[in-house]
Amino acid sequence: MAWRSHGVSNDDLIQQLWRNQLITDERVRDAFLKVDRAHYAPTHPYSDSPQSIGHAATISAPHMHASAIERLLSYLLPTARNPAPRVLDIGSGSGYLTHVMAELVGPRGTVLGIEHVPQLRDLAEANMRKSAEGTALLESGRVRFRVGDGRKGWVEPDGERRAEEEQQDAATVTSRGEGWDVIHVGAAAVTMHPELVEQLRAPGRMFIPVNDDDAGGGGGGERVGQHIWAVDKDENGKVEKKRLFAVRYVPLTDGPGER
Ligand code: SAH
Repeated sequence: MAWRSHGVSNDDLIQQLWRNQLITDERVRDAFLKVDRAHYAPTHPYSDSPQSIGHAATISAPHMHASAIERLLSYLLPTARNPAPRVLDIGSGSGYLTHVMAELVGPRGTVLGIEHVPQLRDLAEANMRKSAEGTALLESGRVRFRVGDGRKGWVEPDGERRAEEEQQDAATVTSRGEGWDVIHVGAAAVTMHPELVEQLRAPGRMFIPVNDDDAGGGGGGERVGQHIWAVDKDENGKVEKKRLFAVRYVPLTDGPGER
C-alpha cells in the first residue's frame, strides 16, 4: 500500500492515501487537503516518496506523514480539558508536517518546529509563507520555527509562550505544566532521549524513529535498522513504549557546526 499512492494533484494524492487506507480519519484527510505539498517538496510533490530538500535532509514520504498524524490525532485535537494542545515537531525540515499539525490543534493550540540547520528553519518559514493560510498561522503565533538541537527537546524561554495561551485557565496550565502534548520526531534517534520523554505532558504521546540496538545482535558491521516507537505518558505519568514498524529516516545528528 505504501508507495502506491501517487497523485497528479494535492487532492488526488490525499484521495489515493485515503483509498489505500493510509489515511482513515476524515479529520486527518481534511487537514492534509488544506496543505499543498508543492509548497514544501521542491520536486515530485504529489508522488508518494521522500524528496531531497538540501542540507542532507528530505521531506518524508506522504504515507509516513499520514501514519504519524493518524497515530497522534487524539493528542493533537483540542478538547474541553485541553483547549490549547502544545506540539513539538523535531527536525521540522520543510515545515510540511508542522503546517499539517497546526491545522489540527485548533485556534488556541501551538506547534513549534525545531531544526538544527538554520537555512532549513528559514526554508520552512518561507514555505509556509507561500499560502495565505500558512502566513496567517505564522502571524498568529500558532506556528513557530526555532533553531536548536532537537535531541534536548525545547523548553520555552521566559516570555516566549504565546500570549493567548497564557490566558488559559491558570489551574489547567499549572497542573499540566509546560511540556508537550505531542512530540513528533522527523529524524532517527540513536536512543530514546530522556529529555524528550521528560518533556511529554501527562497525558502525551511521542512518535519517534529510533535506531535498533544492533540490527538484531548479528554484530559485524551490519547496517543498523530503525523502528518507529510510540511513547505514551498517561495521566499519572506512567510511560509505555511500543515498537510499531520498520522505517528509514535520516539521522538525528550533531548540528552543522558540531560535526
Ligand atoms: N519532518 C521533516 C523531516 C525532515 S528530515 C519533513 O518531512 O520535511 C529530518 C530533519 O531533521 C532534517 O531537516 C535535519 O536537518 C533535522 N535534524 C537532524 N538532526 C537534528 C537535531 N539534532 N536537531 C534538530 N533537527 C535535526
